[in-house]
Amino acid sequence: KTERVYNFSAGPAVLPVPVLEEAQRHLLALPGVGMSVLEISHRSKTFEEIIRRAEQGVRELLGLPDHYHVLFLQGGASLQFSMVPMNLLPKDGSADYILTGSWGKKAIKEAKREGRVQIAATTEDSNFDRIPEPHEIKLDPNAAYVHITTNETIQGVQWPKEPDTGGIPIVADASSDIMSRPIDIEKYGLIYAGAQKNIGPAGVTLVIIRDDLLSRIPDGLHTMLDYRTHVENRSLYNTPNTFGIYIISLVCQWLKEKGGLEAMARENEAKAKMIYDVIDSSGFYRGHAQPGSRSMMNVTFRLPTEELEKRFVQEATAQGLDGLKGHRSVGGIRASIYNAFPREGVEALVQFMREFERKNG
Ligand code: PMP
Repeated sequence: KTERVYNFSAGPAVLPVPVLEEAQRHLLALPGVGMSVLEISHRSKTFEEIIRRAEQGVRELLGLPDHYHVLFLQGGASLQFSMVPMNLLPKDGSADYILTGSWGKKAIKEAKREGRVQIAATTEDSNFDRIPEPHEIKLDPNAAYVHITTNETIQGVQWPKEPDTGGIPIVADASSDIMSRPIDIEKYGLIYAGAQKNIGPAGVTLVIIRDDLLSRIPDGLHTMLDYRTHVENRSLYNTPNTFGIYIISLVCQWLKEKGGLEAMARENEAKAKMIYDVIDSSGFYRGHAQPGSRSMMNVTFRLPTEELEKRFVQEATAQGLDGLKGHRSVGGIRASIYNAFPREGVEALVQFMREFERKNG
């Protein structure tokens, strides 16, 4: 018997059970095809239909107008740290990065290899516990783009909404909150996200790029690193992650059945609030992120001592609450509660937290 635990892992992360069941049902043979999605040619009609459905699902859910392209690439969000500046940061230009956590730092490291980077605001001096206030953000009006990390997975800080960049396109790493809520798409020039948290398995990276940005790409880039290659070939220049794209198509279907991104946002807020309420009503747990910047996806908090944190993780794991250990750079506890994370799992955690405080507080 295979018992499922409550999986609080930051990613790869929990997927919707109906998606896993459907993939399992059709793993030996897709209906009418006679072979598995794992065995099928990426040039086949069947796969063309699968990738079309995945793209259509992303378009419908995010409300993408026609002048945005949807790509399914490889190399993770980490490769996008490089591809973004290679394609969009001109040699004689500059890009603004708003730094709110560990992933943004990695993005900046790669961008600096390509050109001039200005850190338009950072909250590093308070250990990335918040999103900067509008007046703290010093944008360069000539910046090629403004890069943000919509949700910093490690620190658990999330932009409550997009910053106002005065028309400069936002480039966003949305790896850990993609499709967790509606977005104001017209503010974005490019969005990238590793699939393995909210929309699928590891190995596919969703990239959404506005058409006019393609004209800025310099000639001479390596073929695989040039967004135009993937736009022109509809993500089929080389062999894509066929299985990953298939799962994304199923997750999109599931999201639509759940009522789309507005319904998701309400559910995600309700789930996160249950945990933050326990933190706020206790002198025992201490949240990492400041209230206005709290993530709906990754709830990060500390206990009075590291000893207690260790015991918390041990006892929680024994009760089927898995993956709660925080990232080593923040310490403490991190509960990742993406779209597919069930509300009952949050209820179980909240109950566990109250009980643990009662025994140890
Ligand atoms: N950005 C963010 C916000 C992330 O959470 C992660 C993965 N945890 C990454 C980038 C790196 O993604 P990948 O492992 O897909 O390269």
